Amino acid sequence: MNFEINESEVTITKACPCCQSDSNTLISQCENPQLVTFLATSICNNCGHVFRSKVPSEDWFNHAFQLRHEEQQKVGFNPLNPEIEKQRYDRYHAIGQFLSTRFGLKTNTLLDVGCGPGTGLDAFVDLGFEVEGVDPDESRARFAIEKGHIIHMGEFRTFSTEQKFDFITLIHSLEHFQNPEFFLKKALEHAHKDTLFYVEVPEVLDHVLDWNDSLYLAHISNFNPVSLENLASRCGWDLIEQVNPYLKTDLHKGHLAMVFKPRSSSVTEVAKSVDQDQIEEIVFRYYQGVPEGKTDAPITIKVKEVNDISLGYKGIKDIKKDVHDNYANRSISKTGENAYYVS
Ligand SMILES: [Zn+2]
Repeated sequence: MNFEINESEVTITKACPCCQSDSNTLISQCENPQLVTFLATSICNNCGHVFRSKVPSEDWFNHAFQLRHEEQQKVGFNPLNPEIEKQRYDRYHAIGQFLSTRFGLKTNTLLDVGCGPGTGLDAFVDLGFEVEGVDPDESRARFAIEKGHIIHMGEFRTFSTEQKFDFITLIHSLEHFQNPEFFLKKALEHAHKDTLFYVEVPEVLDHVLDWNDSLYLAHISNFNPVSLENLASRCGWDLIEQVNPYLKTDLHKGHLAMVFKPRSSSVTEVAKSVDQDQIEEIVFRYYQGVPEGKTDAPITIKVKEVNDISLGYKGIKDIKKDVHDNYANRSISKTGENAYYVS
């Protein structure tokens, strides 16, 4: 599939979504064959948050998802990969077990935002939680409904219930949202004063290995511990602690996981900063692997076409389990000063 993008379909973000600083440095920009900059990546000079300062709009994505869905239905594509679902079950099981042990609670109500096909909910139910899920993607959420879970199908913004949940989980979802602030504020509406809010996202230095992330349309945000705390704090959540539920498992441990509670005082939190060294380290990653070595200027990457709404450009048809394996079949060549072509 070839996804076209016009200038008018690109959303521009100027201030850091986490700390609202308007001092940011451009890392890279990607152009389609029509020379539209459809994706630009910047880093906040205050909290080190990496965000897309230009990205196709939500409407563009929704339309592209619909096109992809129709295409997949035509070929009878099954969105569930048993291996990925097994991994999802194990991860949620580790999270549920960790939360129960660490916070010493028994039967609890839990809302999972972005529950997908409900495999993670199975793990929470097996641990004794009373769960509900919310997910906008009907093609995946219907599997959860078929299994008997209570699922609110649709956008989180339209989700409404009187119930306040003991736990709210947001697991590998926040990095995909164009308006992460909205989700954290909305979650607060479904919390009581003792609710624990578990947020897990990829950690920037674990996830970003080289220039490839500059093309990764699926992630709008790359968080570090300070930027995630800044964002949550601005939305009314106080950090209880940064946790790692996977320590006693053989699952990959390089994620950023934090537990928050609703703020009880009316004190306004001040945004935290990271060291300049840390910002440089993150930027350095984005220039790894480009031909003729690293540059310290913003780079421009032109792509042959935008044929994948997650990877931006992919050279092969089949999708590998690990996102980094999907990068393998494309090549980058130098076309000028800080300018590259990916095909
Ligand atoms: Zn910031």
